Amino acid sequence: MQTIHQIYIDGAFVTPHGTETVDIINPTTERALARATLADGEDTRRAIAAAKRALPAFAQTTVVDRVNMLKRLHAAVLACSDALRDTTIEEYGAPVSRATWISRFAAQSFLDAASTLEAYDFTRIMGTSTVVMEPIGIAALITPWNSTAGSICSKLAMAVAAGCTTVIKPSELSPIQNRIVTEAIHAAGLPAGVVNIVAGRGDVVGAELSTHPDVAKISFTGSTAVGKIIRRAATESMKRVHLALGGKSPTILLDDADLTKAVPLALNAAFMNNGQACISGSRLLVPKRCLAEVIEAVKEAVAQMKVGDPTDPTTVIGPLANDNQYKRIQRYIRLGLAEGATLIAGGEGHPAGLEQGYFVKPTVFANVRSEMTIAREEIFGPVLSILTYGDDEEAIAMANETVFGLHAYVMSSNPARAKAVAARLQAGRVMINTLQHDPLAPFGGFKQSGVGREYGVLGLESYLEPKTLIGV
Ligand code: NAD
Repeated sequence: MQTIHQIYIDGAFVTPHGTETVDIINPTTERALARATLADGEDTRRAIAAAKRALPAFAQTTVVDRVNMLKRLHAAVLACSDALRDTTIEEYGAPVSRATWISRFAAQSFLDAASTLEAYDFTRIMGTSTVVMEPIGIAALITPWNSTAGSICSKLAMAVAAGCTTVIKPSELSPIQNRIVTEAIHAAGLPAGVVNIVAGRGDVVGAELSTHPDVAKISFTGSTAVGKIIRRAATESMKRVHLALGGKSPTILLDDADLTKAVPLALNAAFMNNGQACISGSRLLVPKRCLAEVIEAVKEAVAQMKVGDPTDPTTVIGPLANDNQYKRIQRYIRLGLAEGATLIAGGEGHPAGLEQGYFVKPTVFANVRSEMTIAREEIFGPVLSILTYGDDEEAIAMANETVFGLHAYVMSSNPARAKAVAARLQAGRVMINTLQHDPLAPFGGFKQSGVGREYGVLGLESYLEPKTLIGV
């Protein structure tokens, strides 16, 4: 069992003032994996003070300086990508394909930020004035457990590109992944205080960051419930608050879709990252007349999906991250049954032969109606709801019938028709016949899926404040 008793402040690994510990269990074996000591409010204030000391010099660095730093960060995180992949499997249960993708994405995000920065014009003329984009100040970056390295690195990349110093509060549930990323960031040799990393409880470290007057901006990725708490807490000091929150994303299967391609894509969208993905396409909207055919195709595909050892490259679904997640998913499956949805795959309990570990059965319900809890709430596990619609108008209305608006998927063999449907969906991103990520295009949510955008130019600008100079 590993012990992790250090946090990262002012360019050094230090013993935290906090004394609370958290135990991490390997979700595949249910054996104890790590014990980590958590940072507390005092540690957070020290980290903010370090970021404050580093800010004046860092805000004055040139684009060339920061591009070089981003390249060093990329090289350092890339160098540990195998360790990161293995730990993402061990600590979190991600299948090896996903764990590999996320560790590469984490490293790549620094190069993407560097190319965005190199092309960005910090000074421009608007009206008769000169507008200068300045770093916003100290940015607090609060990240979830389901994409530890990816969230930390993609946020940090943009903060560094902008010239902001940072205090990162990763999830307290990913201490080993946090340690590997922290060591890589340290190895990149940025000036002391530019990056400070204090893992601790959300209601302690996160709450301090959300209220501290020296923090100018919060970039938060996590649940909608916590996003609301942070936004309220940050109001008093008028922080800029960026929120990347939960979703209940629809996949609209239009009646001209090729089911041999659309059904596997839809299942992939629903079950990616063991279903623990904010962009999971957890509602599949199917034309009424195709329902029987879709159900057959779904049953067949799910029956072939390998659940099990996440290190096995043929595994599609590994264990859920922890016991709470396991229990949460069981509760939603029971709710689906109680509300009268028809179970067509999976169901309660462990898959046969996988009684140890937090494994659940990939589960699909048909005959789901929009008012059912399983169609409304973010389940955050491999549970898919199939709903039916009459015509495209009804499909669009059903897709939008949610408080969320993070993502949507449209499957069709007619690109013009798919684009026309996409244009009417209330979602920050719509993927048409693909699950391909675009790291340079904006990412974020409509409605209660968030505020603001990450990645690319809009992501960079969320760490900048415009200053208008008149008369020069
Ligand atoms: P969470 O909201 O429970 O926690 C996220 C982070 O917030 C953690 O670091 C946590 O410690 C911290 N936190 C908790 N309470 C806090 C408080 N009172 N003040 C400040 N910080 C606090 O989310 P989670 O369970 O870690 O992650 C899953 C959720 O994240 C899902 O809802 C998922 O959809 C969402 N998510 C969204 C995106 C996106 O880009 N939109 C990406 C990944 C995950």
